[in-house]
Amino acid sequence: WDGQDSSAQEEKIFVAVRLRPLNERELSKNDVADWECINNTTVIFKNSFQERSMFPTAYTFDRVFRSDSPTRQVYEEAAKKIALSVLSGMNSTIFAYGQTSSGKTYTMSGITEYAVEDIYDYIDKHVEREFVLKFSAMEIYNEAVKDLLSTDGTPLRLLDDPERGTIVDKLTEVTLRDSSHLNELLSVCESQRQTGETTLNEMSSRSHQILRLIVESEAREYFGAENSSTLTASVNFVDLAGSERASQTLSAGTRLKEGSHINRSLLTLGTVIRKLSKGRNAHIPYRDSKLTRILQNSLGGNAKTAVICTMSPAHSHLEQSRNTLLFASCAK
Ligand code: ADP
Ligand code: MG
Repeated sequence: WDGQDSSAQEEKIFVAVRLRPLNERELSKNDVADWECINNTTVIFKNSFQERSMFPTAYTFDRVFRSDSPTRQVYEEAAKKIALSVLSGMNSTIFAYGQTSSGKTYTMSGITEYAVEDIYDYIDKHVEREFVLKFSAMEIYNEAVKDLLSTDGTPLRLLDDPERGTIVDKLTEVTLRDSSHLNELLSVCESQRQTGETTLNEMSSRSHQILRLIVESEAREYFGAENSSTLTASVNFVDLAGSERASQTLSAGTRLKEGSHINRSLLTLGTVIRKLSKGRNAHIPYRDSKLTRILQNSLGGNAKTAVICTMSPAHSHLEQSRNTLLFASCAK
């Protein structure tokens, strides 16, 4: 089983589902949990509500996590290998996908912290190479890209570079002194996110946050010229807008209406991921949104991708949870 788990993490898109516990509000309304993990890979609809006969009741993914699984375990089993591939020069992206309040930020902030810890740990143990770490952070809100490490609120432009692909013009890139330096920068990002006129919750339900760690390394001369190649790659930690912003596409037959609650980047990401998972050389519409353009080099091709779908188990969220499972099923 272990072997299978780790090889699954090497496939093009690793898809996991994480249930959170029922929260205080749900409990106080006598809400009940609809979903249960019956093993490491399958989540089932366990209630005998009438809805039961109306949709598939078992869903299988690369990995599923029960509501009492700690983030450490989610990291180890669904994200670690993909995040650490940056150390061998592979680009990678880890997404948190799910409706607002399902646990995206909770999951992604833990994963980011553990990954950074492991990356620094690896660097300390590999003195034969010299590493330089750089950090950038951005937010996409209404298809405008904002630098979370700058107080200048001007939207950033995307440019096409013949060698590097799409680049975010004038995006701040800070060379890190150590992991505590990164923690300082993360709190800068947090304060930048809160400066909008909308509340943080409203903002985070509509915006995507991309934290990008760039790892450059070169063999130290002392150890000989054999492995003197320079490697550069980045790992992206992406906390997506609430998936309720894309739910219209998922109900079959509904014509997509342009509306304030529809999020172009989220919709396009769904299409890109579905096409990538089919694996044929279909046209992948990266250019249709800011999010997919920015991540183009870290999605598909040799890049490693994990999508961690977070879900509330509550019956009151049944429709959104089914949409999330549908998205997750299309991604694998
Ligand atoms: P989102 O980012 O998807 O809107 P959050 O990550 O902010 O959701 O989570 C909503 C609330 O639920 C937070 O108070 C968070 O601490 C809590 N929470 C989320 N996931 C879990 C979990 N797996 N275990 C315990 N509490 C969780
Ligand atoms: Mg959030």
